[in-house]
Formats: sequence, structure tokens, C-alpha cells
Amino acid sequence: MTRVFNFSAGPSQLPTEVLQKCAAELMEYGISGQSVMEMSHRSSSFLEIIETTERRLRSLLQIPESYQVLFLQGGASLQFTMVPMNLLKPGGKAGVIHTGAWTKKAIAECRKIGGCEILASSEAEHFTEILKGVTTPQDLDYVHICENNTIYGTKYKELPECGNVPLVADCSSCILSEPMEISRYGLIFAGAQKNMGIAGLTVVIVREDLIQERPEIPSMLSYAVQAKNKSMFNTPPTFAIYLLGLVLEWVENRYHDLAALKTHNQQKAALLYNQIDQSRLFTNPVRPEDRSIMNVPFVTGDAALDAKFIAAAEAEGLVNLKGHRSVGGMRASIYNAMPLEGVQKLVDLMRRFEEENR
Ligand code: PMP
Repeated sequence: MTRVFNFSAGPSQLPTEVLQKCAAELMEYGISGQSVMEMSHRSSSFLEIIETTERRLRSLLQIPESYQVLFLQGGASLQFTMVPMNLLKPGGKAGVIHTGAWTKKAIAECRKIGGCEILASSEAEHFTEILKGVTTPQDLDYVHICENNTIYGTKYKELPECGNVPLVADCSSCILSEPMEISRYGLIFAGAQKNMGIAGLTVVIVREDLIQERPEIPSMLSYAVQAKNKSMFNTPPTFAIYLLGLVLEWVENRYHDLAALKTHNQQKAALLYNQIDQSRLFTNPVRPEDRSIMNVPFVTGDAALDAKFIAAAEAEGLVNLKGHRSVGGMRASIYNAMPLEGVQKLVDLMRRFEEENR
């Protein structure tokens, strides 16, 4: 069997070691006589899994005690609804810094719940930059950002200054890629299927004072209910939580901490951006200081040539390089599990392709 290098934006490549451990434990987890998929979520074996997973996440991200960690379902997309439902006060309003497709969706969902003001937008620049120096009206209930824009390949390197207004960040495509200062945020959410494992699990990290008892909110959509029930108001996505635990263990064993992992991610990204920047064929439109180290879009400017490149890459086992349908071209998602070797192979191909297609 030959495994490919998978540049998908998500679900995406998992570390080989994680898949191997998962396979080894598939028929029997520990001495339980059953797989994690078959276990009661109330069993002592599973309770140990969820507690260990939370402990590992808290330790790697250095999450303060005053924040709750919730393991939810519904994808990052459900947070576009849950955040305003739980954080908007009656008659209140959210502010959004609009940086692409995922903030557009967040704005649309927020407006179904309550007030939503666009504080700034980079749409006129085709979302190729992160807006800086945005002022936050202090009467907002929260400010929403998408910290890493998976489609456009932009990333906040400095968080916006929000004063006393809580900052809510969609970190779906950057969580665990680098250290974070959790105390700067009111709430962070992320779908697991990029850097944290598999689809079906959404992690929410929320400051305790933002969790309000609101009886009018449907139970499944209430942070207060989910927190009170330790993410077990109903059956949680048990296998996805277990897999997150394996991914976190892999990060600990391999990198020890997120600072070391960031260095590795920066090396991979630099290799690819350097190739693009010295190329006369490929370009990346993002302002250099705003470039993501997780998602790297690039184009030749000729759709037929892009398609030819994607086919050539696939023939070499470099798959899922097609850009998002809204922007076209190519996009290499180089999450934590993508080894340097995969990026090197991609860069080598780009060099050869450019020589052959001058
Ligand atoms: N936010 C961002 C930044 C994303 O990249 C994605 C998915 N690619 C989503 C939200 C939506 O996630 P989900 O499919 O888990 O709802």
C-alpha cells in the first residue's frame, strides 16, 4: 500500500502513527474487550478517554482554569448559530471583521438570531489581506473573527484590540498549529477535521463568565447545558474524541510543545512560499505579512495549466491540490500532519513543471 500526500483542506491527512495506534486498538481498546466505537459513553473506559483528552488539550494550549472545554457536534458551522444564541444579549449586537467565506456564513447566521455589524471588510481586496487597526465599539456583545481563512490563505498574526468586548475566534484551520494566548479570547471554536482529528467533533473553549443560564435556548444549543453536563447531555462523538486524544498524544511525543510545532510548520510554509515567490509561473496573491502557514493558495493564471499541474501532482501521489471552487487554482493545505517530505515533493514538482511549461 502506498499512502499519498494529502493536501486537502479538511478532512485532511492524519499522522501515520495515529492511524497505526487507532488500527491496533480498533478490535480491543485496552483490556475492555471492545472498540471505542462500541463503548458506552458513560463507561469508565470512555470517561478516562474524554478526561485524558481534555487534560492533554488544556496542557498543550495552556488553557486557564477559568475556561471550559466543550466537545460538541454540528461542525464549526453550528457555532455560527450557537455563538450569537448564547452571547448576544436581548437587543444586543455582534461585530464581525469580514475576511472571507467563513465570516460571510457567520454573518448570515448571526443575523437570523440578532444584530450584526460588519466592522470592516477586505472583500474589495478579494480577501487577500487581514484588516488591522479596526476599532471596536464598546457596546458590542462580542467581536467575531476567522483567525485563519482556509480558502484565501490569510491569518491574523496579531489579534484585534477589542477592549472589554469578548473576542470570538473561528480557529478551525489554525488551532494546534502554534501557541495561543487563550486569555485574549472570550471563545474559540474549531472543527476537528483539520488539525485535531476527524469530522464529527467541534471543540469550543469558552470563558466561564460568558456561559449564561438562558432557559429559552434549546438545550442542545446551550453552552450552559453542555458545560453543566460535561459535554454529555447526549451521546458525544466518542470516536472523534478518542481520535483527538491520539492526535494530542502524537503532538506531545513528537514536538513536546506547540512552540516547537510552530517552528516545524513555519519551515514547511517557508519552503513552499519561497518556491512560489521565486517562480515566474506560480503566484500567491496574499499580502506577505498576512500569509497563512496552514493553507497556501497559488495559481498560474491559466485554468488549463492549473488543471494540468493538478493532474501531474496526482500522478505523483500529491492529492487534493485543487483550490476551493470559489477561487480556483491550487491550494496546498499543510496542516500539522503533513510532513516536510510532502512539501518538498510538491516544491520539486513545481520546479520541474515550470521548466517544462515555460
Ligand atoms: N470555519 C472555517 C475557517 C473552516 O475552514 C470551515 C470548514 N472548512 C468551517 C468553518 C466549517 O466547518 P464545518 O464543516 O465543520 O462546519
